[in-house]
Amino acid sequence: MAVERTYIMLKPDCVRRGLMGRVISRIEDKGYKIVDAKMMHLTSDKLREHYAHLVDKPFYPNLEAFMMSGPVLAMIVEGENAILGMRNLMGATKFEDAAAGTIRGDFANTTTENLIHGSDSPETAGAEIKRFFG
Ligand code: UDP
Ligand code: MG
Repeated sequence: MAVERTYIMLKPDCVRRGLMGRVISRIEDKGYKIVDAKMMHLTSDKLREHYAHLVDKPFYPNLEAFMMSGPVLAMIVEGENAILGMRNLMGATKFEDAAAGTIRGDFANTTTENLIHGSDSPETAGAEIKRFFG
């Protein structure tokens, strides 16, 4: 077990739907600490870097437009094994696969607008925290 920091981002649909408080409560209920947070608007350049593994996918233009459609809440979340723990709390990428009880399972009804981003490994967590918090 190790204390980890992970990059979490509440996406524009989460902000627009007024679900930030409920999602943050789930993170805090789990016992994780929010050690930094800021509202921000993402640029195309930043998104192409962040979603480099997806820029060639047919859905990418739609994803980028969605991620620029409003502000996001960027956060650094800390806790024991928080990287995998947050992925479990979030639920699967595809809304129909996300288990009930997870954030996506309970609130998402499309795959693109699935409320929340979380780093998927220690390497991406380090890179994403640097990308969004410097
Ligand atoms: N996404 C999408 N269509 C897909 C797969 C992914 O719109 O078929 C979006 C979705 O918002 C997802 C994001 O692209 O959260 C990043 O995809 P990734 O595979 O990294 O999933 P995640 O790590 O967010 O679960
Ligand atoms: Mg991902």
